[in-house]
Amino acid sequence: MTQNDYFNSPEFGEKYNYGGPLGCFCTPEGTRFSVWAPTAQSVVLNLYPCGSDDDAQDNGTARRQFPLAPGPHGVWTYETTENLEGTYYTYDITVDGVTRNTADPYAVAAGVNGRRSMVINLSHTNPEGFTDDKAPAYTNENIIYEVHVKDFTWDKASGVSDEKRGKYAGLCQAGTTLNGDGIHPTGLDYLKQLGITHIQLMPVYDYGSVDEKGPDSQFNWGYDPVNYNVPEGSYSSDPYHGEVRIKELKQLIMTLHQNGFRVIMDVVYNHTYSLDSFLNRTVPGYYYRFNEDGSPSNGSGCGNDTASERSMCAKYILDSVLYWAKEYHFDGFRFDLMGLMPVKLMNEIQEALDKEFGKGEKLIYGEPWRAADTAAVPGTILADKANLKKLHPGIGAFCDTTRDMIKGNLMQENARGLVNGGSYDAKTFPRCLRGWARINGEYSVNAPSQTIGYLSCHDDWTLWDRLINTMDEEKAYESNHAEAMRANRLAIALLIGCQGNLFILSGEESARTKEGIKNSFDSSIQVNRIDWNRIWENQELMKYYQGLFALRKKMPYLCDKSSDAARHIKRVYQPKDDCVAVELADHTTTGPWKKAIFLYNFSNKAQTIDLPEGQWQCLANGSDSFLWKKNLCQKATCTIQPMTANIFGN
Ligand code: CA
Repeated sequence: MTQNDYFNSPEFGEKYNYGGPLGCFCTPEGTRFSVWAPTAQSVVLNLYPCGSDDDAQDNGTARRQFPLAPGPHGVWTYETTENLEGTYYTYDITVDGVTRNTADPYAVAAGVNGRRSMVINLSHTNPEGFTDDKAPAYTNENIIYEVHVKDFTWDKASGVSDEKRGKYAGLCQAGTTLNGDGIHPTGLDYLKQLGITHIQLMPVYDYGSVDEKGPDSQFNWGYDPVNYNVPEGSYSSDPYHGEVRIKELKQLIMTLHQNGFRVIMDVVYNHTYSLDSFLNRTVPGYYYRFNEDGSPSNGSGCGNDTASERSMCAKYILDSVLYWAKEYHFDGFRFDLMGLMPVKLMNEIQEALDKEFGKGEKLIYGEPWRAADTAAVPGTILADKANLKKLHPGIGAFCDTTRDMIKGNLMQENARGLVNGGSYDAKTFPRCLRGWARINGEYSVNAPSQTIGYLSCHDDWTLWDRLINTMDEEKAYESNHAEAMRANRLAIALLIGCQGNLFILSGEESARTKEGIKNSFDSSIQVNRIDWNRIWENQELMKYYQGLFALRKKMPYLCDKSSDAARHIKRVYQPKDDCVAVELADHTTTGPWKKAIFLYNFSNKAQTIDLPEGQWQCLANGSDSFLWKKNLCQKATCTIQPMTANIFGN
């Protein structure tokens, strides 16, 4: 029997599956260590007393060692009446005669670069007021804004204090303005005026691609987990002392809550920084998928896929999600390459979160794809596009169809979408309006609650760079290009007209550029940073987004996430060539307009359109999305400018 077959066998599961707590637990009365290591011949605890930075790194040798005792289900434990709070620790685990030194896969605190785990009493890591911290109530729409802790406040023009730039604390700083001008808000205050409801933090778990001992100018997105349950140290003011990053991340979440945002954690359970992970040093082979020839499966494109269909790996992921939700008060999770994870596990995560926090309280969504085939246990149903209907209606997926319809297929460099010269597809368009829901086609969801509509995210070109790529032969990314601006406004107006949750990349609303770099995961901070001067140079575009966000929230027929939300879409038709009209209505709504018409002109000439009977108010056109505040009445016909959207209410 191969190792793979052994781990997959029912006998292994019956003998070793374990549902209890794992990790290190410390109170004034004592400390307990538990490790699941069913294949180990011995497990030894190494303690490194606190006092010097060396103890938090991986220098020096253990001052004390204790063997752990084997127990049922492959769980090894060591228990002492000593309060070991603040002590750093590792394990020496011997499997098949080979001894490996490892941090605790279940560690919740660690020293610099996460190489040594830390004994911690979590009740001592709460910033003032944290036990009373509560997320703001849900509104009728979810508008998620993707933020990278470092790139958001790195730019000097952000006005964030030097010592806080690029740190958790920088994102907490209130009252910052562009170059300190006292007029144009930046950072946290900027977020407050956009109309967004959720902040999705790009990876804030401990990742491996930035040296926490190195200079602050290093940059990486962070999709390379080292310690799944420890915050990243490079965003903290002191990565050497394990309690500091915990307090500072909790402070950030509490601050975002206090400022009206729910907070989503970006989680990457599908692969680790390397195959030589703490999981693999603890139970070699168990937590990963291997091909028949023994090579590691690579459906993630990162060289190793976790075996999330195996019960103890699934438990590990479920425990981790629950830990972040409970201990840090995260309000939701964005699953990287969800298409590598089993539907069964995703549904279990949703059920566990619903049970613990109330139905729908935590928002769950992910990427419903993978980079390549994966060697999951045969029969595993994976949470990819083909299986969205098998997921609970609370679990969402990024909708690449809408994205590609609007700006062109991402996989093809020169592909065009509706806003940059592509053609209208009468089949795809209504599907996107419904957020993929209620379709009997290949890919569909149960309800728009399962759809994350978006134009751009951290991956691939920014929306602006994509538009410049396809519209400007000179590729002048830094320009203020009138045609690309118009296409950008049309793009967000199209997205606003689709049912489902909304998602935008930070800075997209102000024509963010990464100088045409498609995959900037390890590009310089200069490329990745939010350029606050540019944000305010392009404030007209940003205000266009703001107006549409506010307008959308006044249209319950668009915000409806229920399984029969599509009933509000009354008619989709072409009043003229290259023009599309969408009529929406909900007579039960409490919104200011019982009906709305979205008129899109995809042609290069102005078009005159007859409106249906009734008194229509012009709510937005191609340049002003705040017309709805001006109470303008429209006659029976209207003229729509080329490549613009017009929205009417009645
Ligand atoms: Ca790290």
